[in-house]
Amino acid sequence: MAVIFDCDGVLVDTELLANRCFAAALNRAGLPWSVEETMRWLVGRSMGACVDIIESETGKKLPANFLADLQAETFASFRATPVQPVAGIFGVLDWLDGQSIPYCVASSGEIEKMRLTLGLTGLLPRFEGRMFSASMVERGKPFPDLFLHAARGIGVEPEACIVIEDAVPGVEAGIAAGMRVLAYAGAAHADRAGLVAAGGSLFDSMDDLPRLLSNRGS
Ligand SMILES: [Mg+2]
Repeated sequence: MAVIFDCDGVLVDTELLANRCFAAALNRAGLPWSVEETMRWLVGRSMGACVDIIESETGKKLPANFLADLQAETFASFRATPVQPVAGIFGVLDWLDGQSIPYCVASSGEIEKMRLTLGLTGLLPRFEGRMFSASMVERGKPFPDLFLHAARGIGVEPEACIVIEDAVPGVEAGIAAGMRVLAYAGAAHADRAGLVAAGGSLFDSMDDLPRLLSNRGS
């Protein structure tokens, strides 16, 4: 068995900070999207996919510097706040280490973003050499490519991998990859019905994860 963690919302509590920045940048570009709307439509997808969705929904083209400016603002927000680890995640990683169960992270975000948020939260040493980004594959979540790439990267068969996700496109990607998906719904923004509909098994606290991972067949 191996565990593949999503990053944002599963390891690090970034989604509210990132989506506040995203909504503010869209508002400046003349698109009145709320934080709730960016959360609903964009969470769990790569930035390129987010821009495609926004442009097709609104029929407007975003400014050329939109993503570069947004990344700078988002990274500044992560540093200033600073971003926190998801509650209980260190206990989960300690348990996995104790069981000698391999794990890695597979994110729609860039490696640079993972290095920053994992670094700020003290999680980076746990994932050195085990970070996989949608930028490494042709198609990001909800397609299975990234999780299959991560499984290959850690040398574990897909059917032996368990995915931990908090967003619907990520659950869809894990199911499409033939993996069992445990869907973390502990955050206020969790789309509980959507996570279940996509095939995830809901859990609300990282403290419960070692027990859930022990029940492999269920
Ligand atoms: Mg996520």
